[in-house]
Amino acid sequence: MKDKIIILGEYQQDKISSITLECISAAKQLQGEAEIILLLMGEDRKKDACELQQYDVDQIVLVEHPLLSRFSNEPYAKALLSVWDQLNPAILLWGHTDIGKAISPYLSEKLDIPLYSNVESVEYNEKRLFLTRPVYSGKLIEKIEVNTPTFFLTIKPKKWKASQKKLERNCTIRSLKVKIDKSIPTLIGLEQKKQQTLNLEDAKIIVGAGRGIQNEEGFALINQLAKTIGGTVGVSRGAVELGVCDASMQLGQTGKTVAPDLYIACGISGAIQHLVGVTSAKTIIAINKDPHAPIFEVADYAIVGDLFEIIPALMKEWDNPTI
Ligand code: FAD
Repeated sequence: MKDKIIILGEYQQDKISSITLECISAAKQLQGEAEIILLLMGEDRKKDACELQQYDVDQIVLVEHPLLSRFSNEPYAKALLSVWDQLNPAILLWGHTDIGKAISPYLSEKLDIPLYSNVESVEYNEKRLFLTRPVYSGKLIEKIEVNTPTFFLTIKPKKWKASQKKLERNCTIRSLKVKIDKSIPTLIGLEQKKQQTLNLEDAKIIVGAGRGIQNEEGFALINQLAKTIGGTVGVSRGAVELGVCDASMQLGQTGKTVAPDLYIACGISGAIQHLVGVTSAKTIIAINKDPHAPIFEVADYAIVGDLFEIIPALMKEWDNPTI
């Protein structure tokens, strides 16, 4: 029987998220003779499965259950344990996202299978498999040899290109039944927070706010700049600690990893824990009043000065260019 690589499909606002397409690209690198299976969990996923048939996977497996309609730790973990038992794959692969981070350690412990998390690259060398991942807040890159045929892998977002659609639809779709004990905690509902940002991981332009924004007024200025140039707002922990924004907007080691075309860091010092989440940006502009701020070491363009003077000037220039 062929080995299997299972990718857990992730959804964001009811759309398959880009990390799943990045997982397909990573799985192709690991594939060898194995079969790639995209696992879709939820309710009424058949339409999505038909659309996803154009991607480069061998099979789509649907696991539909009312308790899986939205991500929740316990039902998802139980369902994945059942899928593991039934399909007996070699590799279970998903993103190093909130979902991946939440359930992969639980499954790894429960099944006693090694977990390689936040992986940035995979490479076969004379049939030996090597992985790299950042350690010590990204100060070092660790290279590991995988010595077991069976393992879990979470991949760092934006390290693989999203897989592209093919013309033909030639993968099969099948359903798998799982039993989920009704006694486990059940998600009753989700309430949308007022301060809702666009999906940061997919944003092309991000304006970053740091402690240098000082207060609500500074945060409003950052939002205004983002609106003016068609960007999304991300923040450092310094800004979160000011209490003016939500931790879900945080970029960095304990926040999100992004790779926009443009990142404008405003009043952010450039601590390593922040930088690991943003240095995949194609272009970085930093605005900081301290000419020695570490952010300038990674910035493509440095603007030394007070953000409360620079940002209004930038917006004015954007609206009425003088050059
Ligand atoms: P500061 O370091 O205080 O910098 C503020 C900057 O604003 C300064 O450089 C200052 O010169 C500038 N400034 C002030 N006023 C102005 C002005 N008017 N105009 C222009 N510039 C001005 N941090 C994250 O961001 N993300 C993470 O995921 C994260 N995870 C962490 C995990 C761990 C385990 C630990 C220990 C820390 C983590 N941190 C994280 C915190 C990180 O170490 C820094 O403390 C944090 O990034 C600092 O935020 P900041 O740059 O906004 O603030």
